[in-house]
Amino acid sequence: MNYKSALQNTIFEVISKASVELNVESYVIGGFVRDLLLGRKSKKDIDIVAVGSGIELALKVSELLPKKPKVQVFKNYGTAMLRFEDTEIEFVGARKESYHFESRNPVVENGTLEDDQNRRDFTINALALSLNPNHFGDLVDPFNGVLDLETKTIKTPLDPDITYSDDPLRMMRAIRFATQLGFEIEANSIASITKNAERITIISGERIVDELNKILATEKPSIGFLLLYKTGLLDIILPELTALNQVEEIEGHTHKNNFYHTLEVVDNICPNTDDVWLRWSALLHDIGKAPTKRFNKKQGWTFHGHEFLGGKMVKKIFERLHMPLNQKMKFVQKMVMMSSRPIVLAEDIVTDSAVRRLVFDAGEDVDNLMTLCEADITTKNPTKFKKYHNNFDIVRKKIIEVEARDHVRNFQPPISGEEIMAIFNLQPSREIGVLKEAVKEAILEGEIPNEYQAAYDFVLKRAEKLGLQKVH
Ligand code: ATP
Ligand code: MG
Repeated sequence: MNYKSALQNTIFEVISKASVELNVESYVIGGFVRDLLLGRKSKKDIDIVAVGSGIELALKVSELLPKKPKVQVFKNYGTAMLRFEDTEIEFVGARKESYHFESRNPVVENGTLEDDQNRRDFTINALALSLNPNHFGDLVDPFNGVLDLETKTIKTPLDPDITYSDDPLRMMRAIRFATQLGFEIEANSIASITKNAERITIISGERIVDELNKILATEKPSIGFLLLYKTGLLDIILPELTALNQVEEIEGHTHKNNFYHTLEVVDNICPNTDDVWLRWSALLHDIGKAPTKRFNKKQGWTFHGHEFLGGKMVKKIFERLHMPLNQKMKFVQKMVMMSSRPIVLAEDIVTDSAVRRLVFDAGEDVDNLMTLCEADITTKNPTKFKKYHNNFDIVRKKIIEVEARDHVRNFQPPISGEEIMAIFNLQPSREIGVLKEAVKEAILEGEIPNEYQAAYDFVLKRAEKLGLQKVH
């Protein structure tokens, strides 16, 4: 097969010319070719393999381009990268890799195109298009990757036990591609991933999280998480989640399976947000339930305090997986800690003061919290389902009304501590704190509006009770 017409971009001609000048062969390989054959919109990156030095080829290509773009060289990896228009072009020399079981790092030697295709993770990622003038656009497909594209199969070029054990990240990649592309992982591969799952422990948290984020970014992340579960990887990476996969029965009382519930919540939230951190919040919102589960005769199954404990567990997970311990982590923690608040509201009559407190506590994140909690409605009882959604509609309306009136989303006290000190000629003291807190409570309860004069009058009245005299 020839794909010359798909290589119209001038960059391919320039690479071809540079290869001739250096007397090396070059090929487009990997994701670009796969996505081209799938008719899928490709990410803005192109991988080029040179049968020779990738770095020299990159430098020559830059020389031949009118703008002579800067070439970033990664000497240790033998790769180089340059930007052309809005695309990143990565150059690598064809290589042969051999791994030793004890070592994570392969021994790398120069190799042929075929050697290079052998070291690729999947047949569909080993497809190459020639950039050599006599064969420009010819497909080089030694493992029948095209057939695997047609049958939507993820399959390794070599014995899967070798491919996965050599670089265990490939296990995550297999599952990620299956989720992104809607492909099946071939049975041999599934068996081999299951067998090699334990080897994922030699991969850094950052690289694992990269793949998890890509799974979470798909339309239906549950596909990936179920595969991670089935192969035993999830138990190693996120045991807090697999701990939720249980249903116990005591005296005829059962509780829902919170693992499958969680996956449903994650899928539910996807049409409503692309924010990966909100998707993480959905994934982790119930993790506190396994360690807090109790049974008592009066209430049946309870998970008291699971939100608070869950929030603490979020931090541990972020630390363990080397995820950012910044405001993103704080956001996920906050979402988990507050994840039961709106539904409690929605189960009852929705009062203004309850909504005001919710907006006060959630601040800027109140809309995200609502999105999470609506996704959390997975009841199969249609009456309850409708009732919860209706109540959430009321909550959302009230959030807007209350916010327009009371501005509690980014609450600023209408009267400052300094001013209270001045009124009563006080030094910083406990009384100031008490009065400020009383003003906030009165506003949240709806006793007074969030306005200066009302707060001033309120403070005078309350101060009388504390035996304070107005001085100014
Ligand atoms: P995308 O960029 O859309 O996620 P991709 O296939 O381009 O998909 P990259 O991670 O950019 O994936 O890698 C480019 C190519 O490098 C892959 O197509 C594959 O041939 C090869 N590759 C990447 N990672 C590995 C790996 N761990 N083992 C073997 N080959 C790999
Ligand atoms: Mg890529």
